[in-house]
Amino acid sequence: MIIQLSKEISSEQKEIIIHEVSKIGYHPSEVKTQFAHYIIAVGKAEFDIRKIGNLTGIIDIHRVSDPYKLVSKKWRVYDTEINLGDNIYINRKQLSIIAGPCSIESPEQIDHSIAHLKANNIRMMRGGVFKPRTSPYAFRGVGLEGLKVFSEKCKANGIKIVTEVMQVSQVEEMHDFVDIFQVGTRNAQNFNLLDALGKTDKAVMLKRGFSGTIEELLQAAEYVFSNGNENIILCERGIRSFETAYRNTLDLNAVPILKEKSHLPVIVDPSHGVGLRNYIEPMALAAVMSGADGIIMEVHQCPEKAISDGQQTLNYPEATQLYSHLHQAYALKKSFNGV
Ligand code: PEP
Ligand code: MN
Repeated sequence: MIIQLSKEISSEQKEIIIHEVSKIGYHPSEVKTQFAHYIIAVGKAEFDIRKIGNLTGIIDIHRVSDPYKLVSKKWRVYDTEINLGDNIYINRKQLSIIAGPCSIESPEQIDHSIAHLKANNIRMMRGGVFKPRTSPYAFRGVGLEGLKVFSEKCKANGIKIVTEVMQVSQVEEMHDFVDIFQVGTRNAQNFNLLDALGKTDKAVMLKRGFSGTIEELLQAAEYVFSNGNENIILCERGIRSFETAYRNTLDLNAVPILKEKSHLPVIVDPSHGVGLRNYIEPMALAAVMSGADGIIMEVHQCPEKAISDGQQTLNYPEATQLYSHLHQAYALKKSFNGV
């Protein structure tokens, strides 16, 4: 059950609610986010909802039978919109495109990428500065100093930054230079990191764990929300399967299912999802048709020379063509939905 509390609730009124909730056998937890104040109560007993709902200090009360609560669509029927500032939103009835290199490599590379994004009217750039690499000998990223340059250049050009945070101690260090913290697939169940990101005021993009279920992704989002941060984006980026013909199995089934189960925006990463340049376009288009609110993809001025993930990175002409196709697909999809 989710109990939405009034902003003016007194501590006595809150205590009464907590007491009544415990009395019917439910376990209450208080959640305060940047937007609202809730009590989440977990339990199984049948009860008359009016018994709680009529208490003073409550705006609304909802039964949510899902194992995750606050990220469920069962209580919030409208979709969450993320406001990144400067008139940049995710999920405001338009397709969000986030593009950029796998790794930030140099100031010149950032300049090229920004010029490409601006030419295509894209206002969100991806680029890792802390890279989780399978081999310890591979390039690990330009780190915090590189992030500062990345941030300075993006700020000067009105572009928002999406970049991966790998550990709790980085959340504070990176905070001022990031617009969306990305949690990578390898950290999908790093609960300490999710707790810490719940306490920031920056948006969080959660990638699905490569062996994670849809429910586990939603529970990861619940960690962030219940720690106080409602600005969460879910990202399908492929899961590991028995197939070896491509890098990951992009699970587009997850998109309509996530959209039905949760009010959070869902974006798809076809770059890591299929992992091979030739198949990025069809899979990105399929993602839009499956209902994705956005696409995050790897682009580079010269993918052959990219330090990481060049094999799945589009060059600028390829990317430019894909953006235009994606917008067409999104318009078509919207017309099917009658929006
Ligand atoms: C990335 O986006 O560069 C990345 C490492 O993604 P993932 O965590 O999905 O592998
Ligand atoms: Mn990559």
